[in-house]
Amino acid sequence: MAEGNKLNLAIGLGATCSGCDVTIVDLAEDLPKILSSANIVFWPTAADLKLKDLEAMADGSIDLCLYHGSIVNEENAEIAKLLRRKSKLLVAFGSCACFGGIPGLGNLTNREQLLETVYGTPSTENPNGIKPQGEVIVDGYRMRVPRRLDLALPLSGVVEVDYLIPGCPPQTSQVRDSFEAILSGNLPPKGSIIGPGKNLCDECPRKREGKAIARIVRPHEIIPDPEKCLLDQGILCMGPATRAGCGAKCIKANMRCEGCMGPPDGIRDQGAKMLSTIASILGLEGEEKMTEEEVAKLMDGIADPVGLFYLFSLPSSILRRKWGEV
Ligand code: SF4
Repeated sequence: MAEGNKLNLAIGLGATCSGCDVTIVDLAEDLPKILSSANIVFWPTAADLKLKDLEAMADGSIDLCLYHGSIVNEENAEIAKLLRRKSKLLVAFGSCACFGGIPGLGNLTNREQLLETVYGTPSTENPNGIKPQGEVIVDGYRMRVPRRLDLALPLSGVVEVDYLIPGCPPQTSQVRDSFEAILSGNLPPKGSIIGPGKNLCDECPRKREGKAIARIVRPHEIIPDPEKCLLDQGILCMGPATRAGCGAKCIKANMRCEGCMGPPDGIRDQGAKMLSTIASILGLEGEEKMTEEEVAKLMDGIADPVGLFYLFSLPSSILRRKWGEV
């Protein structure tokens, strides 16, 4: 621990929307309490600390680093490695750092096509078709633009991670509990995911019959019955394949779970688990068995399979990316 028994705390970031930073600010009345037991030594979003300040710190001098965002370019990877060296505990904070998150959907294509999409389409004013260069000179100043990696990765794709706190963003209760565990030294085994191991259906207040569905419904097509399970109503809620711990906030707002907490304990691949759940409710077995054509028609109702099953977890799934021609 740092001087005065205060924790040296760093909050690092990669490819992120910074919603995870908001979770920390959202701690509200708990924030001053946490800050009274911590020195913030690095937090680019909130404090004017530069890379050279981080480089100057002694190795292992940061007690706890929360890292949010996925790794999509060389700079993200370099800073993640630096923070790993400087930190005793490195926590993947939020679903991008834990599983690759929404930036991980870039793995459906490759680096060249991504740059083409961003810099080569009519929606971007770029008459000379200029794409980011490794190094550029502007007004005599040499500037380095980090090279985009071909594959988006979770934090564990480049460094060893001690703990994972999933969620998009994580819940304030998870952050509070984690700080308490760290301050008291009462930590779970390394590599643990902080949060309940069960799936979201276990904490969902809706009544679930688990009946076969006859039609897949997109969320904008109906106003769901707020008492009944969304899956029973044909809406592909990711609850069965998603870790609990969020308090079922989306479900209580009559929205389906999109899977941001990642897979529960014992599930290696969130999308594969959801596919097997759907197979079990498609009416493939029993008296009301569907024909293959009926099942194919039903599956046509899934407009965006990867965005549905792997919205937050493609880089850490078994597939990791789109294979073949991209
Ligand atoms: Fe609740 Fe969704 Fe599970 Fe149904 S599938 S019980 S709505 S979390």
